[in-house]
Amino acid sequence: MSTTSVSISQKLTLSGSSSCNPRLAQAPWEFDAMPGYGPGSSEADPVPAHAPTNAEARPGQLPQLYRELPEEDLHERIRAAKEALGEDLVILGHFYQRDEIVQHADFLGDSFQLANAALTKPEARYIVFCGVHFMAETADILSSPEQSVILPNLAAGCSMADMADEDSVEAAWEEICEVYGVDPQNVTPDDDGKLPILPVTYMNSSAALKAFCGRHGGIVCTSSNAETVLEWAFERARRVLFFPDQHLGRNTAKAMGVPLEQMPMWNPRRPLGGNTAEDLQQAKVLLWHGFCSVHRRFSVAQIEKARSEHPGVKVIVHPESPMPVVDAADASGSTDAIRKFVAASSPGDVIAIGTEINMVNRLAAEYPDRTIFCLDPVICPCSTMYRIHPGYLAWVLEDLVQGRVNNQIVVPETVAAHARVALDRMLAAKPK
Ligand code: SF4
Repeated sequence: MSTTSVSISQKLTLSGSSSCNPRLAQAPWEFDAMPGYGPGSSEADPVPAHAPTNAEARPGQLPQLYRELPEEDLHERIRAAKEALGEDLVILGHFYQRDEIVQHADFLGDSFQLANAALTKPEARYIVFCGVHFMAETADILSSPEQSVILPNLAAGCSMADMADEDSVEAAWEEICEVYGVDPQNVTPDDDGKLPILPVTYMNSSAALKAFCGRHGGIVCTSSNAETVLEWAFERARRVLFFPDQHLGRNTAKAMGVPLEQMPMWNPRRPLGGNTAEDLQQAKVLLWHGFCSVHRRFSVAQIEKARSEHPGVKVIVHPESPMPVVDAADASGSTDAIRKFVAASSPGDVIAIGTEINMVNRLAAEYPDRTIFCLDPVICPCSTMYRIHPGYLAWVLEDLVQGRVNNQIVVPETVAAHARVALDRMLAAKPK
């Protein structure tokens, strides 16, 4: 596993005007109830019966004290609570998380690496996930029943994951199955032994959608293994419905040779997703109309500018970026692939990266003998990751010391069991 065990103690600041709204970094609680910043999929969270304090721990309920404490005091309190909790606690930090939080994390990684990192700490009763909602759900699905997964701020959703909700996907599935003349609750193989359609969900999706895939013969993918997963799917089905990220689906299928004409977009607000029945018959990959608001900001013009200003620059972008951007880059890959790309470069190299600014800044600090910069100099960080402010972390940790579990993420076992099926299929899928 390439998860990084964190020993970072330096504090990095965001460069220039990299934050869309500086208040988001300083006081995210002011945004928790605002339209467009709401709790998204966390609205559906069940309140754990054994943790009644959770009923009060909804977004925006951060006690006033933690909004007002100076940042240094918050860090002191976090360190003290960590020490008090000892082996009972593991803190996970996503690559895109702000450095004020990462400095307290025991592990740094992408969402799936972090869920697996938690498995290496079975003695930890509390898994505090400094990422976004779907990541905490995955950690809960994979952790033991004795462990509690905590998301310090329930408003830390993922705008991409929220673009595909369970009801819309169920409705799309029924429409699609009707076109193919199959029972949506029991899709069976045609005479050639292949299913007419199979669902594939990106890891960045709710537990309910992972369970949907588990129930319908489908599978989960990450940005590291999307091609392997699509190969697995095409061995079993003639088509896939890929959600929620159209760009990862398109970039991956295109690299495998699927023509663009066979990748219609499914817009859940339009009949047949905005397609004709003939489009759907000819389709190989039906792409859900979702995207990442961070990665869709990268453009070919930014790459051209980087190339003209830095001859010889190497450009790598995340596959959640639009297809023309991936095509114009020298390489594309997951957060882990980007880290490896930088690690494999040489002193003096110039590298332009198309991914979240916190990760780029951290790589630039780790490799000071290279010139590393973000393609978009005014890129917004992932605004939902920013909801995890040290105030929230101090609050949940100090309450844990007192035996109070706030903001626990609980995936009901009926959902988790099916989601595990789809995750297990992913783990069993091997590259050709
Ligand atoms: S970077 Fe994009 S996909 Fe990742 S958590 Fe943020 S909004 Fe979601």
